[in-house]
Amino acid sequence: MRRYRANQVRKNAITTENKEGRGELTLCASVFSVVEGLYDFRPLCLILSTLGLAAEHEVVAMGVGHAAVALAASRAAPRVNVGWLIFAAFLADFLLGVFALLGLEQASVPPEFAKRHYLLFDFPYSHGLVPLLLWGAIAGFVLSRLRRNDATRAFLVVWALVVSHFVLDGLVHIAGLPILGDRSPKLGLGLWNHLPLELALETLMTVAGVVVYWKAAGRNAAWSRWGIAIFMTVLAALTWTQLFSSAPPDPSKLPPFWILAPVIFAGLALAIDRTRAARAGTAPAY
Ligand SMILES: [Zn+2]
Repeated sequence: MRRYRANQVRKNAITTENKEGRGELTLCASVFSVVEGLYDFRPLCLILSTLGLAAEHEVVAMGVGHAAVALAASRAAPRVNVGWLIFAAFLADFLLGVFALLGLEQASVPPEFAKRHYLLFDFPYSHGLVPLLLWGAIAGFVLSRLRRNDATRAFLVVWALVVSHFVLDGLVHIAGLPILGDRSPKLGLGLWNHLPLELALETLMTVAGVVVYWKAAGRNAAWSRWGIAIFMTVLAALTWTQLFSSAPPDPSKLPPFWILAPVIFAGLALAIDRTRAARAGTAPAY
């Protein structure tokens, strides 16, 4: 009976959340309806709504931190569009979505979710150290093939970014990230137990990442500079929203968010960084 009631409470919470998600979409559409007829803003509203829900559902826990490391890494590989670097930094989360859809990995809601605001994960293939070394090598190889110049540098930077996900997530996760398989030692320093501190750390990383990018981009790439600064501010704000999430998400509904969020983040950054990448002396600028 108690379990039935708990399920019922969770079901109601999820229904409310879904309604809120649709609400955000409708609100966004009505805001833009002022200029309706000139442009169709529904895709933009869908992206904003997805990002909002993604943040609410812990998709971007240590989210903006990954993007910040990618920005800092752009100094080491200036000829690679930052969009690719951001996708590399989020590759583990993208793969988590894929493996979860295949039924190979999953998340669960801890009983104290309302207080703690985090999920527990079983993700040996997407977030294990040894698999990430391999995924990084594959991603680095693919991207380095697209570069005529600096292929080795592109490979190393992308590989390091993919592997950096293990270190950053290892700082915040509770149950830990395995070295190789579920029975191996796990890294999980549990910074999520001190969420305001964790969020402050991510914000600091964001500022540092934007400063590095801003300096490296130079004055000729004002659009990219301001675009990345705004993009990172929005991402940081979304990351902070998890502090206010108290209703537990339904883990079975999360994989599409895990897949979509990195694609959207990388796609936006790819478009914003085009000016800077082109001025870095490379063609193509993507
Ligand atoms: Zn992750």
